[in-house]
Amino acid sequence: MIQEKISEAQSRIEAACRRVGRNPAEVTLIAVSKTKPVELLREAYEAGMREFGENKPQEIREKYPQLPADIRWHMIGHLQRNKVRSIIDKVCLIHSVDSVRLAETISEEAARIGIVMPVLAEVNVAGEESKFGLRPEETEEFVRTIAKLSNICVEGLMTIAPFTENPEDNRIYFRKLKKLCVDISEKNIDNVCMRSLSMGMTGDYEVAVEEGATMVRIGTGIFGERNYTQL
Ligand SMILES: *Cc1c(COP(=O)(O)O)cnc(C)c1O
Repeated sequence: MIQEKISEAQSRIEAACRRVGRNPAEVTLIAVSKTKPVELLREAYEAGMREFGENKPQEIREKYPQLPADIRWHMIGHLQRNKVRSIIDKVCLIHSVDSVRLAETISEEAARIGIVMPVLAEVNVAGEESKFGLRPEETEEFVRTIAKLSNICVEGLMTIAPFTENPEDNRIYFRKLKKLCVDISEKNIDNVCMRSLSMGMTGDYEVAVEEGATMVRIGTGIFGERNYTQL
């Protein structure tokens, strides 16, 4: 069941790549497993999935020791500074950095354990009041500032597009994030390598891939609907 969902997502990503002349190897599928029990993650793992996305430090802490060590955990949700220490040694990429203070804490905690943590800057491209993330206009300055920190490495941008019935509605936002990424990349800022564009979820990932996503974060499309009331 999960295996079929993963294959289906992969074929759709490949088809989207073909439509725009991209190489599917450029796109990483991240299985967003938040709220889902480890049995389901194990099923996805057995189907070949190695990239998992979670939005709560607590869930990463719980699931991490129960699953194989070659899983690459992605922190995709809003992160509080006092939770950084609990995940810094477990995640491969933090997608949701949107404040200098958070970036400073990540750098400090990474230094403490002797690593350099890759991060993405989260941008609120659609300017939604309810969402975290930087304004597009402030993103370059933000990247310049946090790139000076010794133990993080800025690897690109992330966005959560608005919820919509029609994925085409989000095309403008994906295009805008891609442009912002290229613009910042062209500034050749030290310690910045804008290689990752994390955008697209179950409802709109094909459009995101057409517009240049290198990472898509798919939850419902792999694991089914989430039931928050069980938590
Ligand atoms: C939950 C979540 C997703 C996945 O959402 P689906 O619509 O279930 O695919 C992607 N990105 C972030 C940041 C999320 O919190």
